[in-house]
Amino acid sequence: MIGLGIRFGVIPNYPARGDLAVACPHCKSEAVFTSPYDFLRDDAAEAACSDARITGVKWSGGFAVERFPDTFPWKDPNNPYVQVVRNEVWGVLSCGKCGHRRKHLLNWPADAFYVIETSAGALWAYTREHLVQIRQRISGESSGGPFDMNRLPRQFLLKRTQARLLREIDAFLLRDH
Ligand SMILES: [Zn+2]
Repeated sequence: MIGLGIRFGVIPNYPARGDLAVACPHCKSEAVFTSPYDFLRDDAAEAACSDARITGVKWSGGFAVERFPDTFPWKDPNNPYVQVVRNEVWGVLSCGKCGHRRKHLLNWPADAFYVIETSAGALWAYTREHLVQIRQRISGESSGGPFDMNRLPRQFLLKRTQARLLREIDAFLLRDH
């Protein structure tokens, strides 16, 4: 079992464990912002602890896996588990397109990759999956899915702007990222 994941305290209702789509600071492509560690407990912690291929440390009754030992090791001064600073979300930004990888302090939603300047205002989403769910909510096709849609501002749910908004979202989704 994967444990705490990243501390997304400054991002209300973000699923406890998940990656964010961010814009690569180098090539502007879709990059991933993710937790530097996985925290394991019980059997998973014991298994990881005795597996030489996994680097990490015993911590708080479990085992913290260093997912990026070179980029963001456990001893890093910004370790978000040890050094909890309110309103700071540290993680690792990785770009599959240009290979850029670095330790990164999240600046949300400014870092968001899925940002659309729509006629109803700026619409941003955590991930493509989130944007697709928002689209379904706006279109009225579905209100279900993993993300809480109660936070979607009402300005995006007006009947009179619905068709235009859907076209703007579709144009963005169809773009070659
Ligand atoms: Zn890049």
